[in-house]
Amino acid sequence: MDLIEVERMRLATSRADLALAPGEAVLAGGTWLFSEPQQGLRGLVDLTGLGWEPVIDLPDGGVSIAATCTLAQLRDAASRFGAAAALIAPLVDALLGSWKIHRVATVGGNICTALPAGPMTALASGLGATAVIWTPDGGERRMPVSSFVTGLRSTALAPGEVLRSVEFPPSPAWAAHRRASLSPLGRSAALVVARRDAGGFTLTVTASTPAPCVFAFDALPTAAELAAEVESCAWYEDAHGAPDWRRATTLRFAEELRAEVS
Ligand SMILES: Cc1cc2nc3c(=O)[nH]c(=O)nc-3n(C[C@H](O)[C@H](O)[C@H](O)COP(=O)(O)OP(=O)(O)OC[C@H]3O[C@@H](n4cnc5c(N)ncnc54)[C@H](O)[C@@H]3O)c2cc1C
Repeated sequence: MDLIEVERMRLATSRADLALAPGEAVLAGGTWLFSEPQQGLRGLVDLTGLGWEPVIDLPDGGVSIAATCTLAQLRDAASRFGAAAALIAPLVDALLGSWKIHRVATVGGNICTALPAGPMTALASGLGATAVIWTPDGGERRMPVSSFVTGLRSTALAPGEVLRSVEFPPSPAWAAHRRASLSPLGRSAALVVARRDAGGFTLTVTASTPAPCVFAFDALPTAAELAAEVESCAWYEDAHGAPDWRRATTLRFAEELRAEVS
């Protein structure tokens, strides 16, 4: 849709260009920004001119994904995620857009939009990734993506901050996911990712909760131990699912994943 209040658009080509004037916001793929009215938005600063390398292998065996990496580019890079590679395509497809959307929607844009059904939030939180944030003073700060998304349309970004990249640690030994929606092509209503690595067993709940819920165990929990933790979630309610159904589905998925790894 046309954003009729937007008066100017700038292409950022250097970090200095990211100093935002009042009323400006950063633009990535624009698939959310141009999907609904943006009250008070006067200017856009396009991040795609910064030329960030979409995917970089890290020295520790992890992978750095630029915030501007598109979902299509991420899908192409799946093999760089080791044992977690099988998660990439289904979670890209969990954003129920056409290939045209996947070619422009970005990993950073999905996480910064902070919808409960954000599949990149699920992927990054579920694999223990770190958000690398550029601060307006020229500095950088880091935090787990699972803490970066704080609620419905809410993130830990302070005014003027930009998500630079998402750093995935080396692949876990095992990772799997479960996803449910009310209809075959519906938005995610429950999306659970589990992984097992040297640190133990970690289960991450998204889509059925407003923000990611992460449950980490040193060793594989019993069914009762896992369920007791998952029960502590606050269940989200919208047109894509009632809270009691989301709770029941999430608990079933958690147990399925626990049984699968054991
Ligand atoms: C057909 C269709 C289906 C969709 N399905 C889903 C779905 O299932 N789940 C879901 O979560 N979303 C969905 N969306 C919403 C949206 O398109 C996605 O969340 C998409 O990933 C947003 O990415 P983008 O690059 O287009 O972001 P943009 O629209 O460019 O930006 C989104 C927001 O994030 C901010 N932003 C972007 N990048 C950064 C950055 N690096 N640092 C700081 N702020 C930033 C922008 O200022 C803006 O507020 C869907 C959209 C469409 C059109």
